[in-house]
Amino acid sequence: MNLIESRSILTRCSGYLRTVTTHSLNPYIGCSLGRSLCGVGCYVQHNRFLTRGRPWGSFLEGKKNAAELYLREAPRGGFSVFMSSSTDPFPPQEKTAGITLSVLKAMNQRPPALLVLQTHSALVANYRDLLLALPSVRVHISIESDREDWPGLPRPAYSVERRIEAGQVLKAAGLETVACLSPLLPLRDGPGFFERLRGAFGAVIVDHFVGGDGTSSGSRTRATGLPAAMEAVEPGSSLLAYRDQVVALASRYFPGRVGIGPDGFAGRYLKG
Ligand code: SF4
Repeated sequence: MNLIESRSILTRCSGYLRTVTTHSLNPYIGCSLGRSLCGVGCYVQHNRFLTRGRPWGSFLEGKKNAAELYLREAPRGGFSVFMSSSTDPFPPQEKTAGITLSVLKAMNQRPPALLVLQTHSALVANYRDLLLALPSVRVHISIESDREDWPGLPRPAYSVERRIEAGQVLKAAGLETVACLSPLLPLRDGPGFFERLRGAFGAVIVDHFVGGDGTSSGSRTRATGLPAAMEAVEPGSSLLAYRDQVVALASRYFPGRVGIGPDGFAGRYLKG
């Protein structure tokens, strides 16, 4: 990992995140989880401005002045932060680099009205105390499926069990936790999965790559190996109708606490 000086840290949200938070914050550029399962369909790999031709998952740059920039740029109130939209805030390198840690400490000095943390990493549980000190936090942990073995694809960076355990630790501490099935991949045992999620999360977001990958038809993801693997394990799961089946099932376990796509990320849930 390289450490870099960044010019700015808070970005005004637009597009998919427009109604989710006012700003996004990325402590890193690139993602060291990019060669695991989530990296296959990761939407960020299509951002050529960010990758500059480098293969996704091959680079990680830490913004060493992130906390200082945050304190300089944070508005005087009335703002909310999504961390992170184009990296993971808790890659393994965070343990030594401590960049997200420094940002969370800065947020304790100048808190946003709401922090939405978005991660695939079980390491988020280690930050429990700093999160509890903030006025309003929602922790979104991505768990796309209860399956870990996919034909022709890498395994997830953190097992389903470790991510559920991270949710349990944070929920037990009193934090608002949300499981993100995003992008939704076919489930092996839907009822059993939602039963497990219920012990660790207060809500569920379901987001299919069709409509969720920045194109209306899911064409970005269709150019990756993800849809073929999905169809191999569950025919029809690459179509949007599969999402609706899963939403109906999720609603039985999380009545009034299931959100779809950007509404879900914004905490707007379907009526129970
Ligand atoms: S953790 Fe997030 S940003 Fe990193 S590769 Fe996976 S989906 Fe992309």
